[in-house]
Amino acid sequence: MASTILFRKGLRSGCYPLRPFATRSSRMHTTLTPSPPKAIPLVYHPLYSGTVPFDLLPTGHRFPMQVFRGIYERLQELQSEGRVRHQVHAPDLSLPYLRQRLLLCHEQEYVDRFVSGGLTAKELRRIGFPWSEGLVWRTLSELSGTMLAAELALEHGIALSCAGGTHHAHRDFGSGFCIFNDLAVTAVGLLREGAARRILVVDADVHQGDGTAAILAGESGAFTLSIHCGDNFPARKQRSDLDVSLPRGTGDEEYLSALAESLSSTIGNFGPPDLVLYDAGVDVHEDDSLGHLCVTDEGIYRRDKLVIDTCLAWGVPLAGYVGGGYAEDLSDLVDRHLSLFLAANELWGEAARGAEGLRQQ
Ligand SMILES: [Zn+2]
Repeated sequence: MASTILFRKGLRSGCYPLRPFATRSSRMHTTLTPSPPKAIPLVYHPLYSGTVPFDLLPTGHRFPMQVFRGIYERLQELQSEGRVRHQVHAPDLSLPYLRQRLLLCHEQEYVDRFVSGGLTAKELRRIGFPWSEGLVWRTLSELSGTMLAAELALEHGIALSCAGGTHHAHRDFGSGFCIFNDLAVTAVGLLREGAARRILVVDADVHQGDGTAAILAGESGAFTLSIHCGDNFPARKQRSDLDVSLPRGTGDEEYLSALAESLSSTIGNFGPPDLVLYDAGVDVHEDDSLGHLCVTDEGIYRRDKLVIDTCLAWGVPLAGYVGGGYAEDLSDLVDRHLSLFLAANELWGEAARGAEGLRQQ
C-alpha cells in the first residue's frame, strides 16, 4: 500500500532535479499514505540508501548503506500484516531553510566545500565516504528527514525516521560516516524558531556523540546525554552534559540500569524537556562488528522501550532515529534496528488504547 514512493521528477533517470539549497518555496514534505488513526509518523526517503542510480559506496564498504531501505521495506511488510501502524512521510530536499539551518551549527566554508565537492582527500578519509553528487543528496535527505521527524513528533507525540543520528559530525569537519550533525542542526533550529525551549538528546549509540556534544555545548536549551562504550571510537571524547562511559563487555542488566539512572538524573538536572531526540544505535549489540558491549536483542528492545516509556511517562514528544549498527548480514542488522519501531508501536498502541479507555469512562 505505502510502497508507492513519490520520486521527484528526474531522480529516476539520474538527473538531479534541484540544486542543493534551492530557494523555491515548497511544501514542507509529502505525505505518502493516508493517515490511519494513532499511526506513528514514519519518515523515509529512498535516498537514505543512496538509491539507484546513485552508486555511493564501493563494494565491501563497511557502512551498511542499504540497511535504511531494508528497514523501510520490512516495516511495510509488517504494516501489511497489521503488526505495525505507520503513516509514511517523505522529507523535502528543497526546503528553503535547509542551508540556513545547517549554518546554525556548521561553518559555511565547510558546508559549501562539501556540497561542491571541495573537501580534501584527508577530510574525506576522516568521514569514510567517497564524495559524489549523490552523497550530497543522500546527506541532505537524511538531515531533512531528521528535522521532519522532530517536527512530526512535536505535532503527534512521536515520530520515527528510518535513518538519522549522524552524531560524529563537528562544526567544521565530518568524521566516522557523519558529514552534517542532524541531531544538533535539528535541535538548534527548533530552539531558534521557538518550537521548543528545551531539547534533550539521548544518544544510546555505542560510540560517544562527540560532535553533538561539542556543537551543543553552548546551547542552554539543549541537554546531551551520551551512554556509550568508553573504550571505543572516538579516541578523543568530547564532554556531553552527561556522559555514561561503560566498560567493554557490559551486558544487558548493567547497561539498562545505567541508562535508567542516567535518564532520571537528567530529569533531575535539566528538568522535563519539550522534546527528546533519541539516537537508537544498535551497535551496542553483542555481535556488532564495531561495538564492544554485550547487549542482546532483548536488551536492545528493553532499552528502546525504556526510553520511549520514560518519554510517555514524562508526557514528552520523542523523535527516534536509527543510529549506528554494523554487521555482515544485512537482514540481521535490519532485525536489530526494527527494535525501535516495534517498541514504539507496542507502547504507542498501549498509550492510545489507554487514552481511548479514559475518554470512554
Ligand atoms: Zn556508532
